Amino acid sequence: MATTLDISELFYSIQGESTFAGLPCVFIRLAGCNLRCHYCDARYTYEEAHAIMEIDAILDFVAGYPGAMVEITGGEPLLQDGVYTLVRRLAANGHRVLLETNGSLAIDKVPAEVVVIMDIKTPGSGSAASLHPENLTWAQTRNQARPASCEIKFVLTSREDYLWAQTTVREHKLTDSGPVLFSPAKGQIIPADLANWLLQDRLPVRLQLQLHTLIWPHQSRGV
Ligand code: SF4
Repeated sequence: MATTLDISELFYSIQGESTFAGLPCVFIRLAGCNLRCHYCDARYTYEEAHAIMEIDAILDFVAGYPGAMVEITGGEPLLQDGVYTLVRRLAANGHRVLLETNGSLAIDKVPAEVVVIMDIKTPGSGSAASLHPENLTWAQTRNQARPASCEIKFVLTSREDYLWAQTTVREHKLTDSGPVLFSPAKGQIIPADLANWLLQDRLPVRLQLQLHTLIWPHQSRGV
């Protein structure tokens, strides 16, 4: 069983995405990713050196924020086996745990008490067709067992991406089973345009702006 994890950064900030946006949160950003999205704002997680940390040491860091919500992100966290031990121990210590994943790896082994926030990569991401074939079914099963325990996120780069995402949501009835988030890729869609499209189409998804980029527009790490 893995006792260490490759870590890019640990920090305490405001949750910028998901239905938990706005809440204080400890972030554990794991190094390494199997995708290369055009709009990636976390290239340093796979292009730069990282630390190898004992899981106990990561838990010691989190212990500095008693009762805090904790998000595991990346990179792609599910590439590392030790993540399962980490999330179990965090949950056992009483933390609400969120795990962000790019959707390309199986989510079925993530413990039920963890909230999964799963991307569906659009054509404009450059990583389309990366979704694990069973993840949509597992997301729905997860939400049936524990409501809102799997959020689905689309990062959109264009009107074409929006239409593609809308079709995907409707075809799979995604809004029937759990939260669905539409987020404009930074600088690629004007948020007001996306808001108008959602309203015109009566699409019951959540418009998500990356709150941390609005609060700290010139800071790319540690937020
Ligand atoms: S999945 Fe996330 S971390 Fe990986 S390349 Fe895409 S945006 Fe970057």
